[in-house]
Amino acid sequence: MAHSLPALDWSLDALAPVLSTEQLDFHYNKHHNTYIVNLNKLLDGTGLEGESLESLITNLAQVPEAKRTAVFNNAAQHFNHSFYWKSLSPKSAGPGPKTIAALTAGFGSVDDFKKQFSEKAVTVFGSGWAWLVKKADGSLAIQQTSNAGCPLTDGNVPLLTFDVWEHASSVDYRNLRAKYCEEIWKIVNWEHIESRV
Ligand code: MN
Repeated sequence: MAHSLPALDWSLDALAPVLSTEQLDFHYNKHHNTYIVNLNKLLDGTGLEGESLESLITNLAQVPEAKRTAVFNNAAQHFNHSFYWKSLSPKSAGPGPKTIAALTAGFGSVDDFKKQFSEKAVTVFGSGWAWLVKKADGSLAIQQTSNAGCPLTDGNVPLLTFDVWEHASSVDYRNLRAKYCEEIWKIVNWEHIESRV
């Protein structure tokens, strides 16, 4: 079955004023969708049309060599964007008890975590992503990835991501990535983190 744009849990006007309808429409319907269209084209005729994103991202050996880089980039960007939408919510209620305990153990306090996460997000060089991940040993870490880089490659379980490609914020924040990384905390989906931590 062909990959398709996942339905969102909120409407495109629900995250304003942090992210405007225009920003989200452009990001979801243009950028994210393009990765999916490209991925389906790349997989067409390879016998891999039914493979999950996780399988494609973590087992590139199954992909014809000439297509590996392009399949990784488009599959990972599809995964990363789908996860980014899940990381955002108009009903941002603050961290739950499991999340508070895990962030305190890992980073000192929730505020210390937010400060460290923002710092990592702002300092990704060029295009990429900042992630809160759970590692195989159960500990939490903040990870930066470049371009289409995805924590699944390292066997990490993503809990939260900020897209820091310029296209993620350029409609609303122009070149002000730090401002975007500050404002976006207002719409973090803490419930999603609590369900995965
Ligand atoms: Mn993006």
